[in-house]
Amino acid sequence: MIKTEGLTFDYTETDESGQVSSGTRALSDISINVHEGEFIGILGANGSGKSTLARHINALLRPSGGTVWVGGYDTSAEDTIGEIRKLAGMIFQNPENQIVSAVVEEDVAFGPENLGLTSEEIRRRVQNSLASVGMLEEAKRSPDKLSGGQKQRIAIAGVLAMEPGCIVLDESTAMLDPAGRDEILKTIKSLNCSRNVTVIMITHHMKEVTDADRLFVMKKGSVILQGTPEEVFSRGEILRDAGLELPRTLQLAGELKKAGIVLPRTILRPEELAEELVNQLCH
Ligand code: ADP
Ligand code: MG
Repeated sequence: MIKTEGLTFDYTETDESGQVSSGTRALSDISINVHEGEFIGILGANGSGKSTLARHINALLRPSGGTVWVGGYDTSAEDTIGEIRKLAGMIFQNPENQIVSAVVEEDVAFGPENLGLTSEEIRRRVQNSLASVGMLEEAKRSPDKLSGGQKQRIAIAGVLAMEPGCIVLDESTAMLDPAGRDEILKTIKSLNCSRNVTVIMITHHMKEVTDADRLFVMKKGSVILQGTPEEVFSRGEILRDAGLELPRTLQLAGELKKAGIVLPRTILRPEELAEELVNQLCH
């Protein structure tokens, strides 16, 4: 679905005389592969290059070196932008900036209207997308009246109405309260499971990616670690070196170890930790 080979990117600036500066290297030599239907988490400290990588996936940015393919299309080719934007939708951090209309259903219809579809098809897509994010009942409301989590769900519905194969969420839960974050996570997980939508989730909240199929960890423009959540989170030193915290459950497991309780494997979910403790302590 998404493939990069030797992806390198430099932000350059052009001064008044038209001189291009050498710029900041934001990505260096990234080669990754994301398969259709995968749920991928991307972790990394601020400035590690997560957003720059995300913007390459829907061709908002083009590589300075190397190649990015989305659904087989090379993002550097001039005539593929339209196809790529249809394949890969992005959800950004601030839901306010992504809403363009004064009525929920009109907002969701905005993207498909630009695809030149029949009004019947647009109506079908709007209804389906709103139903997918659990917002059908709010169709006639004004987005202004909705909570942050609901607004973000409307933004997701807007992307879904384009029927993309892949959704990239760039810290899309960062401005939400825990309830809003849970709403979005549930919505995204169900789209991934029921519609096989490929999900790329960039987040600071470890909890949001403990169920991911695979994780990529970024540091200073490189992917320094990738694997299943169990594999990645068992590499505490590399994560700390990348400026990341361990999930709470693992932090607790570390404390338990100091107290003499050794867990047999990497446990990421609180329920599983509780179960293991009950087994060890009560039997
Ligand atoms: P992250 O999303 O992981 O916080 P970014 O992809 O935003 O990281 O940034 C990666 C690097 O690129 C950082 O060093 C950042 O300062 C630089 N950068 C990001 N956006 C721009 C820009 N528009 N112009 C110049 N440098 C940028
Ligand atoms: Mg970012």
